[in-house]
Amino acid sequence: MIRHDYSRVDPKRRANIDHKKKQFAKAEFQQQNYEHRLNFYVLPPTLEITLEDFETWAINRLKVLSEIEACSFRNRSPEETAEYMKGILDKHLPLRSDSSRSASLQDERKKDHYSHFILRLAFSSTEDLRRRFSRLETMLFRLRFKSDDLVERQQFVKSLNLEWDEVKEDERRELKDELAAASGQKKGEEQEWFKVDWERVPELVEQRRVLLKRGKAYVPQREQMSLVVAEFTRKLDEALELTARALPRLDEDDRLAPILAHLSQSFTAPDAAYSTSDANIDGLSAITASSIDSLSQNFPLCMRNLHSNLRENSHLKHHGRLQYTLFLKGIGLSMDECLLFWRRSFKLMTDDKFQKEYKYNIRHSYGDVGGDANRRGRGYTPYSCQKILTEPLPGPGQTHGCPYRTFTPDNLLTMLQRVGVNERDVLKTVREDVGKQRYHVACNRVFEWSHKREIKKVRDEGSWGVADLDTIVHPNTYFKRSWLLKHLGEGNAGVVGGRGEKMEE
Ligand code: SF4
Repeated sequence: MIRHDYSRVDPKRRANIDHKKKQFAKAEFQQQNYEHRLNFYVLPPTLEITLEDFETWAINRLKVLSEIEACSFRNRSPEETAEYMKGILDKHLPLRSDSSRSASLQDERKKDHYSHFILRLAFSSTEDLRRRFSRLETMLFRLRFKSDDLVERQQFVKSLNLEWDEVKEDERRELKDELAAASGQKKGEEQEWFKVDWERVPELVEQRRVLLKRGKAYVPQREQMSLVVAEFTRKLDEALELTARALPRLDEDDRLAPILAHLSQSFTAPDAAYSTSDANIDGLSAITASSIDSLSQNFPLCMRNLHSNLRENSHLKHHGRLQYTLFLKGIGLSMDECLLFWRRSFKLMTDDKFQKEYKYNIRHSYGDVGGDANRRGRGYTPYSCQKILTEPLPGPGQTHGCPYRTFTPDNLLTMLQRVGVNERDVLKTVREDVGKQRYHVACNRVFEWSHKREIKKVRDEGSWGVADLDTIVHPNTYFKRSWLLKHLGEGNAGVVGGRGEKMEE
C-alpha cells in the first residue's frame, strides 16, 4: 500500500512476482469506487500511497478519535458530542454525502478508508489498544450514521446484506402483546421487526429494548441503528483479532515500524507538532526576560511547576532546563533574552560558572551552536504533551515532566489549589482522571475551568470556532490560548488558529 518513492528500500524485500502469474493475474489493485459515504471497512486498501499521506492521514484520524474520547471522558451528551465533533471532522476527516455533489467525494472516502486501516495496524498489538480503538471507531461510525442522509443511509444498510430475519406476519400476530410490551408501543401501532441471535445486539439486550425469545432478539425497525452499529463492532473486533495474529508475520519494510510505534504512542495524548505561528500572538508585545514572571500565570502546570522551582531554588536540573528553555523559545523569547533570563535566575551562581557550564546548552537549544547542518539555526522543537508524558519519570531532585503524571494525587491537588483551582468538583474529577491515567484530559479540564467565563464569551459571540477550542495537546498551545482568552478585547483579534511553518524535531 506504500508507494516506494525512496531508494532506501531493500530491493530484496520487494515482492518477486512470477512473470507467468503476472501475465494472467487479474488486475486486483484497482482504485476502489466508494459508492457509500459510510464504510464497514471489510476490504483492505490495495492502492499505493506515499509515506507522507500514510502518516498524515493516520494522524488526522487519530486527532478525530482522541477528540471523541475526550468528549466521552468529559461526559458530553451525544448531542453535545455531535455538535463539537462537527467542526473537528470537517477539518480533519471530512466525509460528505452524495447529495453534496462535491468533486472530492472519492478522495475523502479514500482517506477515510486508508486511515482506518493504518490505525488498525497500529492499534491491534495489545488487547487494551484493540479495545480502545474498537470503542472509538464505533463511536465515530455511530456519529456518522446518525448524520447520514436518510436515503443514502438506507442504501448503505441494504448493501451490507446483513442476515437479519424479518419477522413474518403470522409470527408477529402471535407475539403481538409481547412485542408491544418490549418496544413500549401501543398494540395497534404497525412496525417492522427483525430477528437476530441475541448475542449480536448486546446493547439492546442490556437496555431491555428488545424481546428475547428462543435465543433470538426481536428488534423493532426503529432500533436499526443499534443493529448496524453492533454489527460494525462485531466485524471490527474480529478483524482486529486477525490483524493482531498476523502482525508478527507482517513483512512491511522498515519505514513503517517507527511510524506505527509513534501512532500507538499517540494514544497517551495525541502528538502535536509545534507551529512557529504559536509564537506570534496578536497583542502580546515582545517577550523579555523580565516579563516571564507575569506571563507564567498563563503557563500550563508543567511549566508553572518548573518556574516556581526555579524561583525557589535559583536552579533547575538539566532536563527541567531543557523542557523549560524550549517552551520559552516556543512562546517567542529570543535567545539573548533567554540567556539573560537564566543568568538572572541562577543568581547564586558565579558568572564564570554560568558561562562555562550552562550557556552552551541554552545556545544549543536555539540552534546557535552544535547539531547537524539541518538543525543548525533552528535548534530543538518545544516538547509536546505526548513527549513530556511518555518520557521516563523524573528522578530525585528533578522537576521536569507533567505534574498530572509525576505528582502524587494529593500533591497535585495541593499544587492546583495553590494556583487558584479551588472548586471541589473539579478537583475531585481531576483526581479521577489521573487515577485513570488521563493526564492531558485533567489538564484540559483545569484549563476549561480556569477560563470558563472567557470560553463562554467567545462561544456566545461565535468569535472562536470549534477547532480553536479543541483539546490542548501542547504546552505552547495552552499558553497561547490562555493568554488570548485572558486578554480578550485588548486589541488582539483573539483567534487562535492559523498554522504557520512547522518546526520538525
Ligand atoms: Fe503540560 Fe501537557 Fe501536562 Fe498539561 S498535559 S501539564 S500542557 S504536559
